[in-house]
Amino acid sequence: MLNFQHPNHLPMLLQIKNLYKTYADPRGGPALEVLSGIDLNVAKGESLAMLGPSGCGKSTLLNIIGALDLADRGEVLVDGVDLVGQSESQLASYRNTTVGFIFQLHHLLPQCTVRENVLIPTLALPSKTRKSFQSRADDLLTAVGLIDRKDHRPGQLSGGERQRVAVARALINQPRMILADEPTGALDRTNAARLIDLLSEISQTQDVAVILVTHAADLAARMQRVIHLIDGKISDHQR
Ligand code: ADP
Ligand code: MG
Repeated sequence: MLNFQHPNHLPMLLQIKNLYKTYADPRGGPALEVLSGIDLNVAKGESLAMLGPSGCGKSTLLNIIGALDLADRGEVLVDGVDLVGQSESQLASYRNTTVGFIFQLHHLLPQCTVRENVLIPTLALPSKTRKSFQSRADDLLTAVGLIDRKDHRPGQLSGGERQRVAVARALINQPRMILADEPTGALDRTNAARLIDLLSEISQTQDVAVILVTHAADLAARMQRVIHLIDGKISDHQR
């Protein structure tokens, strides 16, 4: 495999090259080009925030990186391998183990305990390997400050606590990158800042890249690097 280098000389995890995405208008009007030649490199373990106004294509880009959606053309290389051309089972494994997702709403299962929720992404793994994740779930709950709440149900937690459970769940399968789409959208400022700081810390301690989508510049500034999605293209602000 080629060893691509980032400007800061870290090995590259994700490389996006000349990516385009257009949505057809369901009423037959002109198509909407949302992504117009995206180029983006993300290093292993890097934390970056993507800023941009509502409707500019942030979720579209994140969903393409997470293999939840397909680009029209361009490349999404993860460790040098293009997502295009992978089989459906390879993509399913990629979504479950290479990436971890965090959304605006926590999507925790109300009938399961905090600990059971963290373990849900392991259910698709072979039962032998699954066992070893029990202690990892406890370690992650300790890392997000919720080990004392492991037997509680999501309904007994605050909004900020639920999102911290979602962070632990996203990390359980030891992903290479976390994709977080406006995870602080439903939180107050204090809890929002706390969640972002947790993501930033986790990216360093767990060596996982974090791509955070937000429209709050003050939250974005808490990450290592801030990029802007403007007119379908990335403008990069290295800090
Ligand atoms: P953001 O996350 O930055 O708010 P999105 O990526 O969700 O933006 O959407 C970008 C644009 O694409 C918006 O104008 C949205 O209405 C449009 N869009 C998103 N998904 C679809 C879809 N499945 N079909 C048609 N248009 C879409
Ligand atoms: Mg969005």
